[in-house]
Amino acid sequence: MTIRLRGHHLLCLLTYKGNGYTPDFSLNFNRIIRRLSRGEDAVIVEGADDVCQPMLCQPDFHCADDHSREIDSQALADIGHLLNKDLSPGQRIVFDADNVKRLRGAFLSGEIRTACQSCSWLAYCNEIAENDFRQTRLKPHTFEHDKQVIAVSQQL
Ligand code: SF4
Repeated sequence: MTIRLRGHHLLCLLTYKGNGYTPDFSLNFNRIIRRLSRGEDAVIVEGADDVCQPMLCQPDFHCADDHSREIDSQALADIGHLLNKDLSPGQRIVFDADNVKRLRGAFLSGEIRTACQSCSWLAYCNEIAENDFRQTRLKPHTFEHDKQVIAVSQQL
């Protein structure tokens, strides 16, 4: 099934290092990140998405509140402007090496961070960006990577 992502999670996945609200949340997010890294595309949705799923049964879940919806809109506007792409619900996005490089550059410069300004993780994500996104989980698949894998397997 296609990966479903809401707007502000397009930002969160750039800095995701495996930490999350609950163990189930992190396990689920890890699986999504692995699929995106392998080149699967995602479809933009309104409201709760596949990242939210493990939180929907939690008593304090905030996935459907107005703030979450507002930052979804802000993230889609910023990222759509950067990539010159319509990112309304139903549209698709792929996290290939070029897109991730552009997105992380704009994340670091603040160009696509409107949604982050009201987020409690702001300082945490700033630090990750300033540290060159080291140890983040999203590692887009590249042809360069394919060549290295083939070279190594031919040596074995
Ligand atoms: S600051 Fe908040 S909205 Fe922005 S990337 Fe980090 S967790 Fe996501």
